[in-house]
Amino acid sequence: MNKKRIAVFGSTGSIGTQALDVIRANPALFEAEILTAQSNDDLLIQQALEFSPNAVVIGDEKKYEKVKAALAATDTKVFAGEAALEEVADFDSYDMMLAGIVGFAGLKPTLRAVEKGKAVGLANKETLVVAGDIVMRKAVENKAPIIPVDSEHSAIFQCLVGENRNPIDKIILTASGGPFLGKKPNFLVNVKRDHALQHPNWAMGAKITIDSATLMNKGLEMIEAKWLFNLEPDQIQVVVHPQSIIHSMVQFADGSIKAQMGLPDMKLPIQYAMAFPQRIENNFPRLDFKKYPVLGFEEPDVKTFRNLALATEALYKAGNVPCVLNAANEIAVWAFLRNRIGFLDMTAIVEKTMQQVTYIKNPTLEEYFESDGEARNFAASLINL
Ligand code: NAD
Ligand code: MG
Repeated sequence: MNKKRIAVFGSTGSIGTQALDVIRANPALFEAEILTAQSNDDLLIQQALEFSPNAVVIGDEKKYEKVKAALAATDTKVFAGEAALEEVADFDSYDMMLAGIVGFAGLKPTLRAVEKGKAVGLANKETLVVAGDIVMRKAVENKAPIIPVDSEHSAIFQCLVGENRNPIDKIILTASGGPFLGKKPNFLVNVKRDHALQHPNWAMGAKITIDSATLMNKGLEMIEAKWLFNLEPDQIQVVVHPQSIIHSMVQFADGSIKAQMGLPDMKLPIQYAMAFPQRIENNFPRLDFKKYPVLGFEEPDVKTFRNLALATEALYKAGNVPCVLNAANEIAVWAFLRNRIGFLDMTAIVEKTMQQVTYIKNPTLEEYFESDGEARNFAASLINL
């Protein structure tokens, strides 16, 4: 069997390094064809020396010479800058893109892979939040399979295997509740970045960890699910499940519910997407039910964690509203991570930006980019950036 050649976009991140762990553990099945990183040149160089990819991209052009020099004795081609991401996404030489870039920056290269008809293992949820209609339409047109990596969506995808077109009643996205489950605004108002960066169940990149603490992550995931599984907004439910053992569920037309379970470990959905439709062996720790005698479920507190309410509003309003929500949130999280604003200010910025930017019902790709820019500028003006 030919090895599957994987293009790991965002190879230095939490998802990217775990994707390389899976490749390293399965050398007969996978090889790394392309690696990309924004600024971590040292890790990118180290990865390139280990995996000998065809090409690497360093986003920060100031680091090009260093990466080029370090890989001079190898066959790896070195590119730099934002446009190079699309250039290498256009290569014929890979089979699957593992889309592990964080944020809006992941949209263009992912779209390029879809336009090439490549399989995409999609971790970058912002791609579908911003322009899900266009991405999914192009995926169908170009027969590009999109296999979710986000654990909730991987769970739903796994529950749907073998169901053909059996009608879905609803999907139930599980949320851990994050580090501030049960807390109220009088507590949250004083939360600082270092506290918010400590997630109880998952070790992830900074942006998604903050999104998990504010519940914006679950809101983004509702929108992601709408596009991946072609659902109406009222078919998407969120339930807080603090143990993160059930990764999500599907309820079918007959009322039966399927759940996918396991210990929280992103390597599993990454491996599942890369090997699909096969399931391959691994040595990841196994779930022992005796250690989890109780699995709990509760309603999310959307009065306290208002980001989830705002994202639900964006889900229903559709058009460019999710794109605006996402852009404002990226700016707000960026500012919070730099101690420029408080925890609850993030919600206020997203809310005000959603009220500000003009509604477009059926945006073109250019209009999505314009809405993103407009929302970023307005959100930044609220923070005096
Ligand atoms: P991360 O911050 O750890 O890594 C991000 C990667 O993207 C890095 O390799 C970085 O170099 C690259 N990058 C950052 N900004 C870039 C830019 N402007 N242009 C090009 N490359 C850029 O993030 P992560 O936690 O790995 O998350 C990646 C994506 O996967 C996010 O969309 C996140 O929501 C999603 N996701 C992550 C997890 C997780 O467990 N980490 C789980 C589910 C979904
Ligand atoms: Mg998730």
